[in-house]
Amino acid sequence: MQGLRDLEKWRKFSYLCAHCRCCSAADYHTLGEYMQICPSGTYFGFESYFSSGKMEVIRGLIEGLISKPSEKLLEIVYVCTLCGACEKNCEEFTLLGEDSGGLTHIFEDARAFLVESGWGPLEKHKEFASSIRVNHNPYLEPHEKRESWTEKSSLRKGSLVYFTGCTSSYRQKEVAKATVKALEAMEEKFVIMGSEEWCCGSPLLRTGQIDQITELAEHNVKALKEIGAKKVITSCAGCYRTLKSEYPKILGAQPDFEVVHSSQFFAGALDKNKLKLTKDVDATVTYHDPCHLGRHMGVYDEPRNLLKKIPDLKLVEMPRSRQNSWCCGAGGGVKSAFPDFATSTAVERLREAEAIGVKKIVSMCPFCKHNLTDAAKLLKNKFEVYDVVELLSKAIG
Ligand code: SF4
Ligand code: SF4
Repeated sequence: MQGLRDLEKWRKFSYLCAHCRCCSAADYHTLGEYMQICPSGTYFGFESYFSSGKMEVIRGLIEGLISKPSEKLLEIVYVCTLCGACEKNCEEFTLLGEDSGGLTHIFEDARAFLVESGWGPLEKHKEFASSIRVNHNPYLEPHEKRESWTEKSSLRKGSLVYFTGCTSSYRQKEVAKATVKALEAMEEKFVIMGSEEWCCGSPLLRTGQIDQITELAEHNVKALKEIGAKKVITSCAGCYRTLKSEYPKILGAQPDFEVVHSSQFFAGALDKNKLKLTKDVDATVTYHDPCHLGRHMGVYDEPRNLLKKIPDLKLVEMPRSRQNSWCCGAGGGVKSAFPDFATSTAVERLREAEAIGVKKIVSMCPFCKHNLTDAAKLLKNKFEVYDVVELLSKAIG
């Protein structure tokens, strides 16, 4: 699927970069001011850490000018969060058209090339890949504890399935609990997969470790088929993108079920009056767009629509939002391999919220919540971090 041959296909594009650095800034026309948008370039401060520098490295790999990557070169390739901000702002890429993939696809192919060549990934990435192989989750947690966040016995067959994801199952259990509370308030019959659910494979795809990915996709799709799934809800933006957009490419066929993010599912439920919000949630919040949900999958409105329907809740936007959103800093294998950089990126996001006078930041991805919460701890808990579904569940009563 990726690797040597596929890196070759980017040869032409690797010569197109004009080093204009439009990819380093959020869209000036919508913001009216210059604001940095590339976390890795902003943090490290050298050309090589922006997408333009990475394209130089990739050209070197394609042309065989780099015979053995140094540790520094591996850092340059792997410190990128794959947030996609650069590809939304690069005019050269726009000229090639959306069908050609995007800058982050090129970066992922470069990582797969490095892995295939025996130079990548980084040690921390190997660690979580090995945990996914053994435990079916990247957190080195026992597989049998996957369902420990709930004491309720779930149906094992049904058409509506909640794909909980590794982060909600092991690290942000309150997101899973709030999702179940909202589903129960709708009086929906739904299935939690429990031990049948394996990691979706997103951390492997993003770090170029693609040898396990077909097995994971085949397992999850087969398990969902046996359950009788017609609609699959995910909490995690990464699971959503992987199940909806990557599995059909990996398996060469469209699975026999629809994949929806929890934001889309609950926004639809409110529109159809299937879910009633009866309690006030007196809070002013700002919404952080998860990169996998927003820029990569185009879901910007549904989380905001949910927030706007919560009684008494006020939503205020940060300057960098929607397509111009500043990444939380966790994605692309960065949280595990470069934890200080990941937290620093999240701290910048909290500071952006603070600058508009808001101390409550809401996202709609447990992995964003995980990293933003680490940043909030570093700032002595001056900030509160939520998932939209948690606030929704407060409004249910
Ligand atoms: S916007 Fe595109 S062409 Fe310009 S520096 Fe960035 S990657 Fe290169
Ligand atoms: S994907 Fe994000 S972090 Fe990576 S180069 Fe592009 S803007 Fe920077």
